[in-house]
Amino acid sequence: DPGVRLSLRLIPYADEGWLLVARDITKLMHLEQVRRDFVANVSHELRTPLTVIHGYLDLFEPEDDPQMAPMIEEMRRQSQRMAQIVEDLLTLSRLEAQERPAEETVAMAPMLATLRREAEAISQGRHRVSVEDSAGCDLFGSTKDLHSAFSNLVANAVRHTPAGGEVRIRLSPHGDGVALAVEDTGQGIPAQHLPRITERFYRVSASRSRDSGGTGLGLSIVKHVLNLHQARLEIESEVGKGSTFRCVFGPERVRPRAAEATA
Ligand code: ADP
Repeated sequence: DPGVRLSLRLIPYADEGWLLVARDITKLMHLEQVRRDFVANVSHELRTPLTVIHGYLDLFEPEDDPQMAPMIEEMRRQSQRMAQIVEDLLTLSRLEAQERPAEETVAMAPMLATLRREAEAISQGRHRVSVEDSAGCDLFGSTKDLHSAFSNLVANAVRHTPAGGEVRIRLSPHGDGVALAVEDTGQGIPAQHLPRITERFYRVSASRSRDSGGTGLGLSIVKHVLNLHQARLEIESEVGKGSTFRCVFGPERVRPRAAEATA
């Protein structure tokens, strides 16, 4: 039956042979599809009401009613947060549905410049932001998806690093490929959280992360984008010292950099 999906596993058996375990995962995959469609549809349906709420909140001027002003401001902040969650869920659904993204040469000089600008915009002068580029190459993949992955890492680094800290964005050769690393001197992540950190809505500390303005979906997006590029995410972190998130790309993803005109 071509509709049946099997999961096959080969495991060593009693020193002398192998055991082939076949599991029928047709139903599981169907449920997974239903879950994906559901999340995508709900997110999509939430967009319009949110736009309307935003629209009306924006009409309010603080001097219209000074007493209401702080409440309206909070409503605005929360509805913006909700809009960001909806956008992130839609991005995740799109990534999950995509077998292969449209791929092209991804110009890394402008990418690094954009990431620096984004870091500076979130930091507002409270951190030292630096960019190092010792790889001098471009990548091959989806510019849009890679940008959203890198930019999530950069936003996290700034948000989880106290004022006066440092955020470093570094493109360098790595093995026979290349790595884009985002390093910070921030609060770090306790080791026991690392295995689950890329799960949707997983947070080290719910309140701390809500305050920092994240949606809890950033690292899932990073993980998905890297999977689609056969790349991996390495995380090193020490509480109180900082974290390094490194996206490692194989040689098949490396392209010689085009002339400076693109920079
Ligand atoms: P969020 O939107 O909450 O940042 P993410 O999926 O991007 O969600 O990250 C998951 C959790 O991982 C965060 O809530 C935070 O606790 C932790 N985290 C991510 N990046 C960093 C970092 N650079 N430093 C410290 N903790 C981090």
